[in-house]
Amino acid sequence: MPPAPPLVSFPNTLYPKANTWNGLQPWIIPQVKAICERFNLKVSAGWSNDTVHAPRSDHRWGGAVDLVGPTAGLIRCNRWADRIRADPWRAGAVFRWVGGPARDASGPEPGHENHVHLSWFRYGPPTSVFLALRDAPVLELREGP
Ligand SMILES: [Zn+2]
Repeated sequence: MPPAPPLVSFPNTLYPKANTWNGLQPWIIPQVKAICERFNLKVSAGWSNDTVHAPRSDHRWGGAVDLVGPTAGLIRCNRWADRIRADPWRAGAVFRWVGGPARDASGPEPGHENHVHLSWFRYGPPTSVFLALRDAPVLELREGP
């Protein structure tokens, strides 16, 4: 077996912004749209290499979103997402990391008083919110098109 290299680095250009909705990974996009609809929130950041995010932020590979909107929706989304978060992944977990304004076991997370951050798994199984959204607090139904 060859020796491990002394240094491994991942260039910032490893995951250039994809030509997708908010630069997100394609498999995440329908999930984010469903979350926005359910909690009445909007995307303020998808893919991003802005230095406001953590140095190895999941925003840099299009695997994280920041959501903004009315505080009540942020809190409900934050609490719902925290219940399906685990790192490392375990069965049933959707998110690797969640930050937001809710007073919960780990929050409010510093710097996340006005938005909810959701990170999916970069390594591990592609996960989906759709089963978990069944148990999310329901907004009043709107009339169809
Ligand atoms: Zn974020």
